[in-house]
Amino acid sequence: MAEDFDVDVLVVGAGPGGGNAALQCARKGLRTVLIEDHGEIGTPVHCGECISDEAVANLRLNLPPEVISKRVKGIRVIFPDGTSKQLTETGYVLEKHLFEQWIAQSAVNEGAKLSLKNRLSSMERIEKDGKFLGWKCDGKGDIFPLTARIVIDASGVSAVCSKFVKLGNNKPLNEKGKVVAGMQYELADVPTDGYLDFYIWPKYAEKGYVWMIPKCDGRANVGLVTEDRPRAKKALDEFIADTHFNDLTRQLPQWKQKGSPTFGGTIPISGPFENTHHDGLMLIGDAAGFTSPLFEGGSHLALKSAVFAAETAKIAIDKNDMSKEIMARYTSLWKAEFPPYEKILKGKNALFELSDSEMSLMGSCFPDEMSDMGIIGKAMVGVRLLFKKPGLYFKKVVPAMLAFGYSRAKFYGW
Ligand SMILES: Cc1cc2nc3c(=O)[nH]c(=O)nc-3n(C[C@H](O)[C@H](O)[C@H](O)COP(=O)(O)OP(=O)(O)OC[C@H]3O[C@@H](n4cnc5c(N)ncnc54)[C@H](O)[C@@H]3O)c2cc1C
Repeated sequence: MAEDFDVDVLVVGAGPGGGNAALQCARKGLRTVLIEDHGEIGTPVHCGECISDEAVANLRLNLPPEVISKRVKGIRVIFPDGTSKQLTETGYVLEKHLFEQWIAQSAVNEGAKLSLKNRLSSMERIEKDGKFLGWKCDGKGDIFPLTARIVIDASGVSAVCSKFVKLGNNKPLNEKGKVVAGMQYELADVPTDGYLDFYIWPKYAEKGYVWMIPKCDGRANVGLVTEDRPRAKKALDEFIADTHFNDLTRQLPQWKQKGSPTFGGTIPISGPFENTHHDGLMLIGDAAGFTSPLFEGGSHLALKSAVFAAETAKIAIDKNDMSKEIMARYTSLWKAEFPPYEKILKGKNALFELSDSEMSLMGSCFPDEMSDMGIIGKAMVGVRLLFKKPGLYFKKVVPAMLAFGYSRAKFYGW
């Protein structure tokens, strides 16, 4: 029966999630094909490119030197009045396109087949005597049509399989969630002390933030994520014009030969999708809505969900059972490990209900180093706030504070 199918697993999209899903599946001996719509992996880059040591260790990644741009010390959160507090948690800024190419190449080295310029555009159920067996997949590119026992959707924010697969009532598997815009420039000769600077300045980034992510050779990604999508570029230009970045040169990143110096993309912000599995299907990474709600990082979650999906695929293939009951294991695995989305979201919403001055006042009550803010540290922040402005304490500042806590690397935060 297995041999009636072209492959065991079709992975759709060769971002960090898809590349790692293909790598993990191939390592487990599954016949795996990884397809990518673009002619090259990793470009255009749509990422600030940072990943924490905690993530690298959790994923057991042995990063080769060429994918690393810079070692960094952690993040510094800068409040609207300039008050800054740091969270020392070391990590890397990557050359993200090279990182993604490295993962995909590792998958190929383990036996996966990589097919560029292939875009999935439909999926049809294959059943026998009412039992689900797999998918007939079609699209644009030389690999199609293709039959696969399992499809792993790693198509990023476009979340293609959620549209192709219909439930019994002919509704799509998931309704489309909300997205925010992220946009950045690469600037030259940017001063840095090795921290990623995150400016929570609603004036420029509504319900988002502005970042400076330092890279090697004095380069840095300076960008923002905002809910005000139409104004994203204008707001970023204004931020640069109003700050010490004003005199710095905007240059094309190494992977870009011509065109506008801006680069970016969209980020899902509605949280994990209601359905992250179905018969013979698992959604991973951005295609499942896995991004951290406060700082919107998603690479770690994409890479880790790929591990859970591959584990589940192996079990399903071994049991010769691709039913959604087996695939449910995938959803249980990520649910047991991923950060509490609703709690962070509640904190983020509380944070953005504060005025700029309230936000700065809250920031001033944090210790200078936030990484070792245990229960006592948090209580002290509460006491300081009560003392300075009791009304603010009761204005949901506690969930806002907790959102910072949950956005730490150990909770997949950046
Ligand atoms: C401006 C910006 C900055 C960010 N900064 C950070 C950061 O610093 N750190 C961090 O952790 N996260 C960051 N993120 C989020 C991070 O980039 C994503 O969470 C991550 O890339 C998700 O990985 P993925 O593999 O799920 O999807 P993606 O990286 O989006 O990959 C999906 C792939 O699927 C392909 N594809 C789509 N449809 C099809 C199809 N039908 N057939 C075949 N292929 C298809 C696409 O071409 C793409 O290559 C940022 C995002 C943005 C927009």
